[in-house]
Order: sequence, then C-alpha cells, then structure tokens
Amino acid sequence: MEKKYKKIILITAPSGSGKTSIVNHLMKKFPQLSFSVSATTRQPRKGEKEGVHYYFISEPEFREKIHNKEFLEWEMVYEGKYYGTLKSDIERIWKENKVPVLDIDVQGAIHVQQQYPVNTIAIFIQPPSTEELKRRLKLRGSETDQSLQARLNKSGYEMTFKEHFENIIINEKFENACKEADKIVGDFLNN
Ligand code: 5GP
Repeated sequence: MEKKYKKIILITAPSGSGKTSIVNHLMKKFPQLSFSVSATTRQPRKGEKEGVHYYFISEPEFREKIHNKEFLEWEMVYEGKYYGTLKSDIERIWKENKVPVLDIDVQGAIHVQQQYPVNTIAIFIQPPSTEELKRRLKLRGSETDQSLQARLNKSGYEMTFKEHFENIIINEKFENACKEADKIVGDFLNN
C-alpha cells in the first residue's frame, strides 16, 4: 500500500470537552475518514452499539489482547476500566485507503505520536472552563458522583499536557470549533 494513505488523526481532550461531537462532525464532512473503534472493558451507555462505538469486551479478553500485543496503545483510563486501540482496526481502515480517526485520551495520543511521529496529527480539544466541563458531564447524565469526580480530576491532570499538542482548539462555540477542525484536517489530508 502506498505510504501516503498511512495517515492517522488523533483527537484528544479531557472527557466532556465536546470532542465526540467534533469527531462526528469531521466524519460527516470528510468521507475519506474512518472512525477507529477502540476496545473497552467499560459497560455500554444507552444507545452505544457493539462494533460501532466500541468493542465491549471483558477484562480477561482485554488482558489477553495486551499479552498478544494486539494493541497499538492501551490505557486504564477511568476507575479501573481499560481502553485500547486495536492494530487490526487501524490496518482495516488503511486497507480501505481511508484515514483512521482516533478519539483517545491524552496519554494514548502521546503514545501513538511516539510510534508514528510522521503522517500523524493530534488535535487537543480544550473545554472552555472547569465549570462548563462539569455542567456538560452532568447533562450527559451517565455519570455517578464518583465517576464525575474521577473525570474532573483527570481533566485537570490532562490539561497539563495541552502544550504537548501542536493543534489546540478551545471548544467555546461548537460551530467555531468545527470550522477550526475542518481547516486543520483539510490541510492535513491534502498534504
Ligand atoms: P468514554 O468512557 O467517555 O467513552 O471515554 C473515556 C475516555 O477514554 C475518553 O477520553 C476517550 O477518548 C478515551 N478513549 C477511548 N478509546 C480509547 C483508546 O482506545 N485508547 C485510549 N488511550 N483512550 C481511549
């Protein structure tokens, strides 16, 4: 396969920053993109589909995949739940001559960048403020007090890695954030 197709787009952010909505927007706008479906040991949320949003697997299965080196990267992101990017999913997308979009946490994005320093861009989506982040997470209604707090704590920690990323979008107004993302992704795909 020609090297020019082996690109990767990483979208990363603290949880609740609106990253998933921006990813969904990009997927609609650029048909050459394909969402990389991660494996996770967390429970599906309402409306989430197996093989579309995630591959929902058990912890023993996840550990076996770690052992078999099936992951490009993996992290224990929240409350003992594992998340990982499957090499097979990236290969599948490249075979289709498409560009994988990875919606992953900050540590995971840094790991992928280390392995693929060229032909990869990372976009960091920053929530406007901690108060707004809290409001959005509460609105989602899927978090317990404990998991909300865990996500807020992690968010503060993840913000400290912001400067690591070459593209930072502040998601104050969704339309503006999408426009900025369109420009970054469009330029990257055309290069
Ligand atoms: P959620 O539980 O809200 O779907 O995701 C929690 C966090 O895990 C988000 O920041 C999401 O981007 C991240 N995440 C999802 N898939 C992966 C993955 O494959 N690897 C890593 N490192 N993080 C992931």
